[in-house]
Amino acid sequence: MLSAPKASDSLTLEEVKSQIYSRNNPTLTPIDIEMHASTVHRILELKKKHNVFMLGHNYMEPLVFGLSTEQEQGDSLALSMKAVETDSDIIIFNGVRFMAETAKVLNPNKTILIADKNSGCSLADDFGAEQVRELKAQNPGVPVMIYINSYADAKAECDVCCTSANAEKIAMEMPGDELIFVPDLFFAQNLENVLKGEKKIIYPGKNNETKGAVCEVHEKFSLQDITAMRESFGLIKGHPNRMLYVHWECKPEVLQEADYYGSTTQIRNHIAARVKEGTLEKAYVASECELTSNLMEEFPTVEFGTACSVRCNHMAKISLDKIKPILEAIDSGSDLSKWEVNLSDEIISKAAKPIEKMLSFS
Ligand code: SF4
Repeated sequence: MLSAPKASDSLTLEEVKSQIYSRNNPTLTPIDIEMHASTVHRILELKKKHNVFMLGHNYMEPLVFGLSTEQEQGDSLALSMKAVETDSDIIIFNGVRFMAETAKVLNPNKTILIADKNSGCSLADDFGAEQVRELKAQNPGVPVMIYINSYADAKAECDVCCTSANAEKIAMEMPGDELIFVPDLFFAQNLENVLKGEKKIIYPGKNNETKGAVCEVHEKFSLQDITAMRESFGLIKGHPNRMLYVHWECKPEVLQEADYYGSTTQIRNHIAARVKEGTLEKAYVASECELTSNLMEEFPTVEFGTACSVRCNHMAKISLDKIKPILEAIDSGSDLSKWEVNLSDEIISKAAKPIEKMLSFS
């Protein structure tokens, strides 16, 4: 993970600036650094003063991602788990709202804050509790597995939750030979392909009228794009030191073209292992573009292909300028309700069950 500024360090503005320069992130220009260093400095100062635990998702832009220490960085589930481990009572979640909800479900007594409560996700926004109930009514008795990219009220209707790192394993752990999987249509088809008929996967739109959802970012990758990237960037199929990485939320034909497919953390860990062995020269990651920006900083010896247009507009809503006012409000003892994620006790207790079931399988 990145050598991000440590929250425990008392740094001057000049030290913060020099620390950002020393990260050598190719996507951070001197203009970016000079423009934003004082905001970064103020955020880190108040973060330390108030013992705020600041979680940073891998898809955050590098200056936001770097506000979090290594222990505070990761993908959505890892971050929620880290929130359980911290002794800090105030957590700022630099990610999208469904992630902050998951953190709240796992940490009901902590204050979970998010810089923009409107930071959605096409998967969570386009599929809710009602659609889960619809599918359950059409398939009585069939267990329901829900992807973590969903809101707490939809999770509350399901039997088990999963991430892109554990979906295969958890699907096989569930009883019976049928499983409802929601909400991601591409993920469902990828799961179906990977399980090779060992379990029948029922998903929205498959012989039913229920509308599912897709990730509006990962759906942008077509087989044609991937083939063009292989050619233009020299990612020859089967080359031992050149890798095409694909995220589970991509279309099935794109996933099948991958040299390695997995969750955000699995892809990052695979790159780390190959770098350690000294066997990775070039890589392209078919996923959100700021993930690549952060990987470029972490693994400077690898030449990464980039796709800057593939940005998640929901993740992009979390910016330095929106994070700083939260810290200022904490500092002045002002009302935090504008940023606080709240869920009813009933939803927390119901949504905790599928998440805990998933964790029991891990
Ligand atoms: S990248 Fe896709 S799955 Fe992730 S938050 Fe954005 S829309 Fe949702």
